[in-house]
Amino acid sequence: MQEYKLFINGEWVESSSGETFEDISPATLEVIAKLQKASEEDVERAADSAQDAFEKWSSTPAPARGKILFRAARMLEERKEELARLMTIEMGKILKESRGDVQEAIDITYYAAGEGRRLLGETTPSELPDKFCMTVRRPIGVVGLITPWNFPLAIPAWKVMPALISGNTVVFKPASDTPLLSIELVKILSEAGLPKGVLNLVTGEGGKVGSAIVHNKKIRAISFTGSVETGRWVQGEAGKGMKRVSLELGGKNPVIVMDDADIDIAIDGVIWGAFGTTGQRCTAASRVIVHEKILPGFQEKLIRRTRQLRLGSGLDDATDVGPVVNNSQLQKIAKYVEIGKEDGAKLVLGGKIVKPLPGYFFEPTIFTDVTPDMRIAREEIFGPVLSLMRAGSLEEAIYIANSVIYGLSSSIYTGNIRSAFRAIEKIEAGITYINAPPIGAEIHLPFGGVKATGNGTREAGTTAIEEFTEIKTVYFDYSGKLQKAQIDVA
Ligand code: NAD
Repeated sequence: MQEYKLFINGEWVESSSGETFEDISPATLEVIAKLQKASEEDVERAADSAQDAFEKWSSTPAPARGKILFRAARMLEERKEELARLMTIEMGKILKESRGDVQEAIDITYYAAGEGRRLLGETTPSELPDKFCMTVRRPIGVVGLITPWNFPLAIPAWKVMPALISGNTVVFKPASDTPLLSIELVKILSEAGLPKGVLNLVTGEGGKVGSAIVHNKKIRAISFTGSVETGRWVQGEAGKGMKRVSLELGGKNPVIVMDDADIDIAIDGVIWGAFGTTGQRCTAASRVIVHEKILPGFQEKLIRRTRQLRLGSGLDDATDVGPVVNNSQLQKIAKYVEIGKEDGAKLVLGGKIVKPLPGYFFEPTIFTDVTPDMRIAREEIFGPVLSLMRAGSLEEAIYIANSVIYGLSSSIYTGNIRSAFRAIEKIEAGITYINAPPIGAEIHLPFGGVKATGNGTREAGTTAIEEFTEIKTVYFDYSGKLQKAQIDVA
C-alpha cells in the first residue's frame, strides 16, 4: 500500500506529527493508501513557502502562468480514464460520473488557462480632461483552499486553477475521504512546470489542519466548500482575521413538476438528480414538488423506475448507484429515514442499509406525503433519499421550494413559458434549471447559492476570477498640473 506525503515548497515531505491516516474504499472497505496527518507546524511551513513564492509568481505574466495550466489540462486529458478509475475506487461514484468529474476539472483548467490572456479590468472616461481611468486586477496573496469529498477532482480544480491564474499562491487541504485525486492534481501541475512553493498541499483532519489554515496570519483569503455548519464556523473565525472568505455550502434542492410537464422527461430528470452520485451532490434533487393533478401517476411511475436502479461497485458498468462515502454518512442517512417515519412521512421505497459488497450501501429511498415542516423536507441528508411533496398551484410549489434555509439549485418541469419565467423570478436559489434536473453545472457559468448556501460569492465562469483577485482603481493624470475631482469640473 502506498504512503503519500505532504507537498511543501516543491517537495514531498512527511508530517512533523509523524502521524498518518488511512484512505478506505467505500465499496470494498479496503485500505487503499496511507496519508499524512499534517500538524499546525506543517501548515505554517506551507504558508511560509507560499508567501516566499508569491513575489515571483505574481510578477510572472498571466499568459505565461496560463501556459503551465494549458499543459496541466492536456495532462489531465491524457490521464482521464486512469484518474476516473482511481476516483471510483476512492470515493465510490460510478465510473461514468467519475469521468464527468475529471472532465469538469479538464474544462475549468483550460478555461482558467485562457483567462491568463484576459483578467479583464475596465476603462472609463474621467470627469477631468487629460486624465485616464481604469481598473486592474491584482492577486490577493496566499490563499487557503478547503474542499469536500463529493467532487474529488472537480472542486479542487475549480479553486486551484482560478487562484493560480490570478497570481495567488496556495495552501490547499482536500477532504480526508478523498485526498488521492488532489495529490494527482498537485503532481500534474508540478510536472507541468509550476514553480516550487506556489501550490502546497496539506492533508489531515479538518478541525486541525483546516482550522490552522483559517487562522494562519499569512493566508489572506479562504475559499471553502463544505457543510453549512463548518462554513459558518470558517466565516466567523476568518472574519476575526479580516480575511476574504468565499463559501459554497449545502443545498435542499427542489424540483417542481407542473401538470403541463412532460412526465417521462421529468421522471428521468428526477431519478438522475436524486440518485446520481448516490444523492451526494450539493445540487442533488432532494425534494420533488408535484402538482396534485398529476401526483398519483407521477408517483407510481417514479417508484417503478427507481426500483430498477442497480446498486453495486462503481467500477461495474451495470451499476447505477454506488456506495455512500463513509460509515458516518451511512448512519446519518439511516437516521434520517427513521426521522422521516417518525414525522409521519410514508416510506414507499428503500430505506435500508444493504450489502451487495462489504461497503457502505443504502437503497434508493422515496418518501411520499412529505410536508414542508418535516425534517426530511428541510435538512440536507446528502444521500439517496427523495421526498415527494404535493402542491395545488405554481405559487404553492414555489412557496414550498423557498421554505428551507438553503438556496443552491432548483428546477421546474413545465410546458408553460409563463410558469418557467415565474419560477426563474421567484425561486430563491443561485441556479434554476428549466426542464432539466438541478445537477449538471457547466464550468463557464457562475456557480453558487443564496441564503445559507453561501455568502454571496460565486465560483466558475467569470466570477471565478473575481473570487481570487482584488480590484485596483487607477487614475492617470497627464495634464501636467493639479486637477481636483468634483471641484475643477466644467
Ligand atoms: P465538511 O464541512 O465536513 O468538510 C469540508 C472540508 O472542510 C473538509 O476538507 C474538512 O476536512 C474541512 N473542515 C472540517 N472542519 C473544519 C474546520 N473546523 N476548519 C476548516 N476546515 C474544516 O463537508 P463535507 O462532508 O466534506 O462535504 C459535504 C458538504 O459539502 C455538503 O453539505 C454539501 O452540500 C457541501 N458541498 C457544497 C458544494 C457547493 O458548491 N455549494 C459543493 C459540494 C459539496
